[in-house]
Amino acid sequence: MLKADYLVIGAGAMGMAFADSIIHNTQSTLIIVDKNNGPGGHWNVAYPYVRLHQPSAFYGVNSKELGSNRVDLTGYNKGLFELASKHQIVSYYEQVMTEFLDSNRVQFVPMTEFHEDGTLKSKSGSLINYETTKVVDATYMNVSVPSMGPPPFKIDGKSRVIAPNELPKELGSAQTYTIIGGGKTAFDAILFLLQFGISPSAIQWIMPRDSWLLDRANIQPIMESLGMSMFHQNASIAEAKDLQDLFLLLEESGSLMRLDKTISPTMYRCATVTKTELEELRKIEKITRGSRVTSITENEIKLTHGSLPNDDQNLNIYCTSDGLAKRPTKAIFDKERITLQSVRTCQQVFSAALIGYVETLYEEDDEKNRLLKPVPHPDETNDWLVSNQQSGENAINWSQNEAITTWLASNRLDPTSSMTTSRETFSEEQAARMVEIFQRVAENGPRLRALIANS
Ligand SMILES: Cc1cc2nc3c(=O)[nH]c(=O)nc-3n(C[C@H](O)[C@H](O)[C@H](O)COP(=O)(O)OP(=O)(O)OC[C@H]3O[C@@H](n4cnc5c(N)ncnc54)[C@H](O)[C@@H]3O)c2cc1C
Repeated sequence: MLKADYLVIGAGAMGMAFADSIIHNTQSTLIIVDKNNGPGGHWNVAYPYVRLHQPSAFYGVNSKELGSNRVDLTGYNKGLFELASKHQIVSYYEQVMTEFLDSNRVQFVPMTEFHEDGTLKSKSGSLINYETTKVVDATYMNVSVPSMGPPPFKIDGKSRVIAPNELPKELGSAQTYTIIGGGKTAFDAILFLLQFGISPSAIQWIMPRDSWLLDRANIQPIMESLGMSMFHQNASIAEAKDLQDLFLLLEESGSLMRLDKTISPTMYRCATVTKTELEELRKIEKITRGSRVTSITENEIKLTHGSLPNDDQNLNIYCTSDGLAKRPTKAIFDKERITLQSVRTCQQVFSAALIGYVETLYEEDDEKNRLLKPVPHPDETNDWLVSNQQSGENAINWSQNEAITTWLASNRLDPTSSMTTSRETFSEEQAARMVEIFQRVAENGPRLRALIANS
């Protein structure tokens, strides 16, 4: 019989960030279960050349730095804060779990699945009895990466189709490479091919949707980057005549980028690139847009609209999984159940840590749910508005809560905290700008709601 105050389902980044907040702010005990054999979630099965898309400086759990806040001097991320690799992330979570276990308040139960009827079953088949006050669902974001399943289309046995995980092994084994998918995984696969000398003319790209992209230079934990980007973003919201105008202003100010300026993107999923990466991606000229692959045979790639030729010298790489899906939101705190979701746009680990902290502040679900309204993961262009509006509303509520503002100021997972805590080093002009940014976030709430209503 396992016994603890909390049962956390999932030892991915969100479950670990939540548990860390509970461990460091209470004396509570936790059972953490995962159907895999170690912590770290999807990072364990990610493609080997994946790196964080945003700086290590604000990823992981609050109590432990990830990396050393260095700035990369080479590569696509040159001049920006370091991005941990898959192996660094997995090893980091192993260390964090060891520290959790050392607290003597955590039991980690790997290779064990939680079932919706409330049962815990080990992969070997035995039922595990447990007693707990609250169950924390750290699986609701439903992260999926290509290696977790087969491609979402039919394959003729003889055609060459691989997940991006196999690309290092297969590099050089084909004359042409077909990248399937329009998201961040597709970008990473193309950049990998280009980095290792594959000519852009040997790569074709099947991209169902074009995407608005975030510039990683704007997501650095310093005033000149994130602070200025928030400033420009809010200026664009305040000035935009309509939705179309808003996206053009966001592009003009550098808040958003796109692959091809002649195409209006229909997707926004927080994909983050550097300007150097974007320039590299623009080298791919053979792009088939607006179509999805329905099947691949020995000599044909069938699409929802038309088809492309295939042969045994072409390697197809499916980069089609959802990453983070846009899921319906639900109350985070619901009696004995806590469902981890983002409470700030595209900041899952920060959100899980804050949910853990707010859990320690109040008994009543109502107050906790008032402070932490879920922000659904964006998918379509208009979701940029919805997720920013909800994030802004949450931020205003937090700014009126002393415990939360104090917690935020010293929290390494909050990228804006490094700006606010170094306020004394601001020039007068920067400090005034900071005040203006936060005023604008508050003022722009109704403006965003109006833009959403008219979209
Ligand atoms: C390629 C990629 C790069 C990313 N880069 C960044 C970044 O730079 N910065 C950032 O903030 N976010 C990034 N993200 C977003 C990402 O969602 C978060 O970083 C985070 O890893 C999500 O963690 P999670 O715990 O929600 O999900 P997961 O990693 O999927 O963890 C869920 C865990 O739950 C377990 N589980 C599921 N169901 C059960 C069950 N029934 N019983 C027991 N265990 C179960 C799974 O085995 C898994 O270990 C990235 C995402 C991807 C795909």
